Amino acid sequence: MTKFKGKGVYGAIAIGNAALFKRQDEQVRRTHVDDIEAEFARFEEAKELATEQLSEIYEKALKEVGETHAQIFEVHMMMLEDDDYNESITNIIRTQSVNAEYAVATTADNFADMFASMEDAYMQARAADVKDISNRLINCLTKGESAGQQMSQKMIICADDLAPSETVSLDKESVLAFVTAYGSSNSHTAILARNMNIPAVIGVGEDFLKAVEDGKRIIVDGYTGEIILEPDAETESAMQKKQEDDLHKKSLLQELKGKENVTLDGTKVNIYANIGGVDGVGAVLANDAGGIGLFRSEFLYLESPDYPTEEQQFTAYRKVLESMMGKKVIIRTLDIGADKQIDYFNLDKEENPALGFRAIRICLTRPEIFKTQLRALYRASAFGNLGIMFPMITSVSEVEKILTVCEEVKAELKEAGVPYDENTEVGIMIETPAAAVISDRLAPLVNFFSVGTNDLTQYTLAIDRQNAKLEPFCDTHHEAILRLIEMSAKNAHAHGAWIGICGELAADTTLTEAFLRMGIDELSVSAPFVLPLRDAVRKLDLSK
Ligand code: PEP
Ligand code: MG
Repeated sequence: MTKFKGKGVYGAIAIGNAALFKRQDEQVRRTHVDDIEAEFARFEEAKELATEQLSEIYEKALKEVGETHAQIFEVHMMMLEDDDYNESITNIIRTQSVNAEYAVATTADNFADMFASMEDAYMQARAADVKDISNRLINCLTKGESAGQQMSQKMIICADDLAPSETVSLDKESVLAFVTAYGSSNSHTAILARNMNIPAVIGVGEDFLKAVEDGKRIIVDGYTGEIILEPDAETESAMQKKQEDDLHKKSLLQELKGKENVTLDGTKVNIYANIGGVDGVGAVLANDAGGIGLFRSEFLYLESPDYPTEEQQFTAYRKVLESMMGKKVIIRTLDIGADKQIDYFNLDKEENPALGFRAIRICLTRPEIFKTQLRALYRASAFGNLGIMFPMITSVSEVEKILTVCEEVKAELKEAGVPYDENTEVGIMIETPAAAVISDRLAPLVNFFSVGTNDLTQYTLAIDRQNAKLEPFCDTHHEAILRLIEMSAKNAHAHGAWIGICGELAADTTLTEAFLRMGIDELSVSAPFVLPLRDAVRKLDLSK
């Protein structure tokens, strides 16, 4: 029995036999060609075939994992048409008089190296995409087929890494789980695994690949990231028990879908989910959340090589609103700075970035960025039930300035005849002690508060949330934090505003009773916590 440790990207347990992922031999030989034009024609033909295959995979993905995740294959089709990529291939064929396979493989290596050397984790993950489309092209050049692996029984797929198209090509019915030696949790492969509900552990390391063989017994724990190769009988039966308990717990929770978030004595609370991008909506719906309580819009900026345009933002916000079909969607305006740095913003290095130039401070200083986002948001408001929320508030004057900009944006849209929802709710995050203490002054200005307990904890307890060494000092249930939340709830309600909690503490079921007694109206948590929280709420009796 040998244990390996990786990163779990989807929480579930699988026990079965290993199947090493087989792909076509990708060794490409360099051969001299005399007829360059004929080689160009071969390349064009292969590109056409690759596009056809990708469009078939896109249709399959559309059915199995939904449009958001299928889009990567549209991106692959676009990458195949990319001018720089194509120019590199044709240049290599022309200048070196070599075969198209070699030109594609060399271009793939160069482009993948370039992506891998970028600082941005999202761009790094694109190295896998360029390799994926290039392998497909090479297969098409050699007339090979990139079909999914056929298996007679359910197996645990073990691979060095899996490209997005390889992941989706796997026959879902015959895959118990997958384990990869490499890979980043930001990659589309990890995202697809979560969405396909397949237990998955990535980044297990090279030693695992050396040790695993076809047919070897293997246990995958997607919760802990632990992989057990050739488990002894005792370990296997203990893990079987853990798996049964897990499945049982999940099936019980599934029964809560469609049920109300109501305590035994009839107190109701909204349970919403947090997302970081359009991709998150699938999990929100799958877990039956009543809405989206926090869309961290800065991820749109983090994933973009330059400022996302008004149109790009509008498209993303509209998509989320339409997918939620009238349920509340609260989008938080840009919250960068501190731990979320973006190169193209050119922010100065700071001694104390968490106490620095971040979030609303940047937006109010750079109104062109702020107004672009607000225009996109208000335009999107015509397509669903939007709430706009502002982060890192410390004063009344900040909120007044924000509201003035909102009015300007709405007036401009009205003037231009662009539709927007006049009733769009506006709220602020309570994530500084200052905001909580003056919440009686802030509440009359807005429709809602949402408590960001992650930052409220860091600022109240003077504990840097990034510093792992401070964890022993971090009492997330500290009376000071709970009093600030209670004070904010009282002040919100006294002025006709509602109040939610969207920080991690919202999912802490040992506090659910306290939050409901404070009159918290909404709790917004990561999607997998929606049903466990509903379960906790339904077992409470506040009349006692
Ligand atoms: C918070 O601070 O609690 C919060 C929800 O915002 P973030 O974690 O994005 O800072
Ligand atoms: Mg915060």
